[in-house]
Amino acid sequence: MEKRVLIFYDERMLGHDPTGWDEEHPDWSAAVKSMISQQFPDASLDTYNHPERPGRLTAIVDALSASPIKGADWRAVAPATTTQLQRVHSPSYLAYIDSLVGRSGWLAQDTTAVSPDSVAAARLAAGAGVAACEALAAREGRNAFCIVRPPGHHALNDRPMGFCLYNNIAVAAAHARASLGYERVMIWDWDMHHGNGTQALFYHDPNVLVIDSHVEAPFYPGTGHIEETGAGAGRGFHLNVPLPRGCGNATLLDVFDRVVRPAAHAFDPALILISAGFDCHYLDQTCAMDDTGYAALAARVRSLADDCCDGRLLLVLEGGYEPEGLSASVHATIGALAGHAVDTFNVLPDDSGLAAVAKAEQFHAETIARLAYRPGARAIGHA
Ligand SMILES: [Zn+2]
Repeated sequence: MEKRVLIFYDERMLGHDPTGWDEEHPDWSAAVKSMISQQFPDASLDTYNHPERPGRLTAIVDALSASPIKGADWRAVAPATTTQLQRVHSPSYLAYIDSLVGRSGWLAQDTTAVSPDSVAAARLAAGAGVAACEALAAREGRNAFCIVRPPGHHALNDRPMGFCLYNNIAVAAAHARASLGYERVMIWDWDMHHGNGTQALFYHDPNVLVIDSHVEAPFYPGTGHIEETGAGAGRGFHLNVPLPRGCGNATLLDVFDRVVRPAAHAFDPALILISAGFDCHYLDQTCAMDDTGYAALAARVRSLADDCCDGRLLLVLEGGYEPEGLSASVHATIGALAGHAVDTFNVLPDDSGLAAVAKAEQFHAETIARLAYRPGARAIGHA
């Protein structure tokens, strides 16, 4: 019998454990120490505990073990192959990452870093999305959630960034296009940060529609302006929805209703992928969502996938750094993917993001209408 939701996870992803200050780049460490002491004057600077830590995943797995979700089926993960990674990363970049096997150190001042087992973990994180695409194509499950780290959506073609080594969601999207024969795939990045890597990788591609809702620049990484809508053949296939800090559940659900759903119906994808970060949770201290909002989002994208693409829906974990909020949100999300009822969600008395969503809906209306036109389609007219 077809299971409802497949969960892809491998405990070897816990082996990615960068911690401590960077001895090779004292200026990078000094800059981060300065930033931390400005934001948290009482914080100890003796050691550096990376926020993207193994405990994120163990909190999620513990929550799912303590309260198993009916209809969920756990699956193993294989590392992504070089061929799969090369669809979105340059050969020289892949060689550079391979050279880091067994080593520790920071790769950038933004604290993107590796420990000896990080490259193996990153190969598994990218491979999880590939395995999930294959399983959905084979109808082994209705939809899927990949519990992975390191995250991926900041990783560029030839550069690591923002805790990300390989762009996991882009590797999955490229695999679906190249290997499974899906003509069009759609990505919604609902992580709090703009997925600059995903944007750059598909910016010229009319076959991958990317919608990205995020806290507006200059918030990290400082990109994702509403005017960035794609270029060349990809013009009109990238929709950014910048949001103010403090936005809550109603804002993200409004992004779905006003931008994501109409765009999906116009674009008609064969697969919907979600860069599922959970850092808009209020415990992450910038925005104000909670687990009830994430469950409602998941229920809506599940229904959308049922309408658009025979249910094919894949969520890949990105950010979310407070273990309690992250684990509760992922649990609620997977429950909704499994078809459990989502009755209600919490709303703020005055959700700060609603005006920004209305602006984005208006800004993108014509672009979304044009998504229904296929590139190269023969015009229908009178002789
Ligand atoms: Zn994030």
